[in-house]
Amino acid sequence: MKPLLGGKGAGLAEMRRLGIPTLPGFVVTVDAWKSYTSGSWSMKAEVWTAVKEALAALEHETNKTFGSSADPLLLSVRSSPIVSMPGQLRTVLNVGLNEDLADSLAERYSNPSFACSALARLIEMYGETVHAIPKARFGALQEEQSKVRAGTETPTSAERLRETVAAFLTLFNEETGEPFPQDAYLQLERSIAAVFNSWFSEPARSYRSLHDIPDDQGMAVVVQQMAFGNMGPRSGSGVVFSRNPATGEKELYGEYLPNSQGEEVVGGSVTPQDVSELAQELPEVYDRLEEVCSLLGRHFRDVQDVEFTVEEGQLWVLQTRSAKRTPLASMRAAVDMAEEGLIPRREALRRVDPVLFDEELHITSPDTSSVQLLAHGIQCSPGAARGRVALSREEAQALKRKGRPAILVTRQASADDAAIMPLVAGVLTQRGGATSHAAVVARGLGKPCVVGCEGMEIDEDHSLVRFGEVTIVQGDEISIDGSTGRVYKGGLEYVSSDLLEYEQLRTLLDWADEASTMRVFVEANTAAEIDEFLSWDLAGVGLCRTERMYYDEDFLGIFREALLADSESEMDTALGELGRLHREEFRGLLRAARGTRLTVRLLDAPLDHFLAPRDALVTELAELRAQHPWNEHIGHREETLRAVDAVRQANPAYGFRGARLGIASPKIWQAQIESLFGAATDLEAKELPDDLVILIPFLTHAGELQHLVDWVRDLVPSTLGKTKGSHVYRVGAGIDTLRAALVADQIASLADLLCIDTDLLTNTVLALDREDTGRFLPDYVNRNILTASPFSTLDVEGVGSLIRLAVVRAREAEPKVEIGACGSHSRDPNALSLYRELSLDYVCCPAPQVLKARLILGQAAAGA
Ligand code: ADP
Ligand code: MG
Repeated sequence: MKPLLGGKGAGLAEMRRLGIPTLPGFVVTVDAWKSYTSGSWSMKAEVWTAVKEALAALEHETNKTFGSSADPLLLSVRSSPIVSMPGQLRTVLNVGLNEDLADSLAERYSNPSFACSALARLIEMYGETVHAIPKARFGALQEEQSKVRAGTETPTSAERLRETVAAFLTLFNEETGEPFPQDAYLQLERSIAAVFNSWFSEPARSYRSLHDIPDDQGMAVVVQQMAFGNMGPRSGSGVVFSRNPATGEKELYGEYLPNSQGEEVVGGSVTPQDVSELAQELPEVYDRLEEVCSLLGRHFRDVQDVEFTVEEGQLWVLQTRSAKRTPLASMRAAVDMAEEGLIPRREALRRVDPVLFDEELHITSPDTSSVQLLAHGIQCSPGAARGRVALSREEAQALKRKGRPAILVTRQASADDAAIMPLVAGVLTQRGGATSHAAVVARGLGKPCVVGCEGMEIDEDHSLVRFGEVTIVQGDEISIDGSTGRVYKGGLEYVSSDLLEYEQLRTLLDWADEASTMRVFVEANTAAEIDEFLSWDLAGVGLCRTERMYYDEDFLGIFREALLADSESEMDTALGELGRLHREEFRGLLRAARGTRLTVRLLDAPLDHFLAPRDALVTELAELRAQHPWNEHIGHREETLRAVDAVRQANPAYGFRGARLGIASPKIWQAQIESLFGAATDLEAKELPDDLVILIPFLTHAGELQHLVDWVRDLVPSTLGKTKGSHVYRVGAGIDTLRAALVADQIASLADLLCIDTDLLTNTVLALDREDTGRFLPDYVNRNILTASPFSTLDVEGVGSLIRLAVVRAREAEPKVEIGACGSHSRDPNALSLYRELSLDYVCCPAPQVLKARLILGQAAAGA
């Protein structure tokens, strides 16, 4: 129904069918909008005839007459786009009212304030929508109304409202050159056309481009009987969510403003109260609202954002739509709904946005010890943000150009600010509630947002903001915490919160693993890392780099001695010492990975990486010589320099490393293997990994692998010979050089497992090191020569072809060989979809991305 009635129209029709209290009305369809915009931009005669017919039926149903003073039917004319665009399109309320009718309405309900404020609102909304009179001109009404609501109503309130109406009528006349139309039908016709036109307003256009909504998608218009939330203390309006849209918790979350017409709540011009107050004031209405929300949530199988009005204790539901929510709320609600049986698990998987795992969203618990609390507002979108105060769009844009994060600070954010929100780090408003359209838009964009911060005073003339005694100048840094509503002076230090604390996330990832056939392993280099990462329910360690150990200070000195040793015996002594250190390290690694997979990669880095930097040595020598030409240390330094130069290579990246080192200078790998298996004998069987893989890196020829497999096979039993213990292990071969990829078939027949290193292959295929991209790559991306850096997004055409070739050849030769990929591309959806297509057995990711990869793979398998 949505393509014809728009989202709001379809939602209302559906609610009516469900027996939810909605006001009667009719819909001017999307087709009518299309004929209007593609034709003469005036309402076609047949459309107008149909409107009048529908109106007659509505009069019959409501027992009221449009434009009649006896019992006037008042209408709301509302936009109904196919995809919801909160606050971007127009609404005109109280259509059909005029001065005469207002008088009879006042008499009929003995409530002149109500009748006057309804008329004033019509003049304002009609003037704004049909004649583009700036909203600010009507500012007076708002103040009047807030006084009435504050309980200061005096006999003069109605009088003052009457004056406001008179002022509005004069304003209307001045601005348009014509009197405010008294004819109800004319009001209706022009309102419908103006709401149609609002599709083309600047804010609506930019909202569409931000959210990829096609410009010709179109909208319908809902014409509906009015409910009056401004009839007194037993009336009001508000917005509720069937689950908390910030955190996903299952609770009724929302706001309510007594004695109001609703526009103020969603428009963000006043700060409403928490909906729980409604439970105190009108308990039976609150109960009914809860019932309705739960029914809607179950019916639409999604979190609902529900607008409502209460007229003299009677609840009317005005709108329901899928709630915009934070990625965290999306995830928790989706899992809960699947567990409640509302949606299937695969649907829950599909609903979660993988941006959940992006870093900014982890920042939810700021370290507040070092900053000063300025004020407290209403929290509405979790996550904290720090940035410089920008009091205007221009300032926010200027800060953006300078690359500085900004916090937009405004009196009230309007939905028009949607275009600016992507440019800022967060939003802070003085007025408005968590259900205002501005807050909804911020939440949808995942921007931290604090609203209704009434303790703050903005002084635009002096470009500053006052928080009590403290004054903050535009451009100063502040921080906001969207989870608590607090505002701080200065920049907050973030403490990342652990997403895995949410039970739902673990459940979701289990479902993802069940759906996908590809296993996800993590990269981890120390026992502490393994301990931490494996507590995330991961399948095991797909890559543990042993070179990490040598960078340790204790290791490095001894390792340098070994590398620069003059004699075999000196080298053996140094390596023997290293072996003892290694053994302890390996004990920790093995124990941490007990019961899972541990993939130990033998030393891969070029030896040059471990030598003292040449420049430093040369400088040091020069200084020593200048001080004392006969300094006793000079000779030693000269020797070191000679030794360093002897080991140094023209191009270490493509030089003596990996398998070449293992074969031509075997003592280093031998020390590693002996201490690894030595460590295994120190432990009990239950303390060991159940799948130990020795990964041999940087192969180019099958012959190398053959040699090394034989060598390891001889070495392991002789290491273990004297002692008991397990020596079960598998041999993995790194596919990390071009030649290894080309002869993957030969390599596959000699190894249990192949591990494709996409970082090294990218270097080779592009003849480029990641470190050297800065000078030209951004320019390439700007010129569209490349769409993204091949180091973050896999070059599927180039590197991907090579991977494909390697996998196909390897599988042809050895169908059962296990094949996986590792590298920084492992979280890239393009790379993951290639791996799925090639049916790789596993992927190995660096820790921060490993959860995201599990989700993406689960989603792909679930058909997202
Ligand atoms: P938007 O698409 O911007 O949410 P709506 O059509 O929902 O615009 O209208 C905005 C507000 O006007 C609603 O939140 C509600 O408070 C008020 N409103 C709309 N229709 C009615 C009605 N029939 N009776 C009372 N109030 C209404
Ligand atoms: Mg609405």
